[in-house]
Amino acid sequence: MPDTPAFWISEADLQRLFDCLRAAGFQTVAPQVRDGAVIYDRLDEAAGLPHGLVDEQDGGYYRLTQHPDAGPFEHVAGPHSLKNFLFPPQETIQQWRRQEGSWQQLNTQTAPEALAVIGPRACDLAALAIQDRVFLEGDFVDPFYQARRERLFLVAINCRRAAATCFCHSMNCGPEVTAGYDLLLTPVDKRYVVEIGSAAGEQIAQQLRAEATLCTPADLTLARKVSQTLAEQMATRPHTPVRRALTTAEGTPASTQPDAAPVPRSLDTENIRDLLFDNLQADRWDEIASRCLSCGNCTMVCPTCFCSSVQEVADLAGDEVTRERHWASCFTLEHSQIHGENPRPTTAAQYRQWLTHKLAGWIDQFGSSGCTGCGRCITWCPVGIDLTEEVAAIREEAS
Ligand code: SF4
Ligand code: SF4
Repeated sequence: MPDTPAFWISEADLQRLFDCLRAAGFQTVAPQVRDGAVIYDRLDEAAGLPHGLVDEQDGGYYRLTQHPDAGPFEHVAGPHSLKNFLFPPQETIQQWRRQEGSWQQLNTQTAPEALAVIGPRACDLAALAIQDRVFLEGDFVDPFYQARRERLFLVAINCRRAAATCFCHSMNCGPEVTAGYDLLLTPVDKRYVVEIGSAAGEQIAQQLRAEATLCTPADLTLARKVSQTLAEQMATRPHTPVRRALTTAEGTPASTQPDAAPVPRSLDTENIRDLLFDNLQADRWDEIASRCLSCGNCTMVCPTCFCSSVQEVADLAGDEVTRERHWASCFTLEHSQIHGENPRPTTAAQYRQWLTHKLAGWIDQFGSSGCTGCGRCITWCPVGIDLTEEVAAIREEAS
């Protein structure tokens, strides 16, 4: 860890952060509003950040609401994550062209541009560490992921609020950012404490902190308090579903689950691997299947899901062929097709595969859970299926 003192910047200094990163050769990527949600994309101007907006989230529910006092990072996890940039939804991994009677392979692995992503949270960095294990460790290293990862600069943000769907505290993945960043910003009132996490971060900080006020130990205590306070809130606040995604034909909520006793949203991970593997025949899988649409949204938004499939695409003349990789989902029939048979032909079997891999099989494969508690799969499930509720139901059925 570089021995550089933390310092303060103001909201007005955020543009200098963008400028310093671009001067260092990075394309800047940051949160912004598109189609009613906060997503990540290229952004050069701090004015394009989602100032004054807060995201309300619950099962199958996401709305941005205006809060004039909200800073540019009051939102939490949206539909995008770092996965979208390191392992994009679709990419060409090989390209072949017929020339003078033989096939020539074209070079598809050109050096990717260096990206600086401003805004990832603790759960995003935890997901990145999980994807690093998948793509960079073991016998097979993914060269496309590796090239992008080596050129990635991260300006992480400590959350000071959580959505109703967040449960990172119960997965030990947040809310405090503790590692894996180049620079870390903690919002305190209308200013930010900037901490440095790498040599690359130090270089940017050298320029950014010109004329900045250095932090005192009391300032750093204040910054730590932001995450501590939030963690306490997450562990104790009762969660009451604000809306259910199931609606009547007239568009009004069919149920607000008035009977559900409000409890803090969390995932009880005790013995979870054995709980799930020992209950593969639980009735709950069929009950979930009666609601699940097999749409695959949960796998698309999950920052750790890494399945892909490969397709060869030829031009009409037959002179050029590309091999395309695109995200795949265990909720499709093709995903499990083996030698003309499909061992997971039902929605119950597909959901069970997703949940048991994420929360149990992953522990055997990669030494950790595949879930960081970001809550995206709950928010973006069109029928509001909530894995924390499903695990609790399976635990109850097994007891
Ligand atoms: S399973 Fe759901 S809560 Fe867990 S990391 Fe994936 S999207 Fe986030
Ligand atoms: S759990 Fe929800 S998001 Fe996932 S496949 Fe089923 S309906 Fe779609």
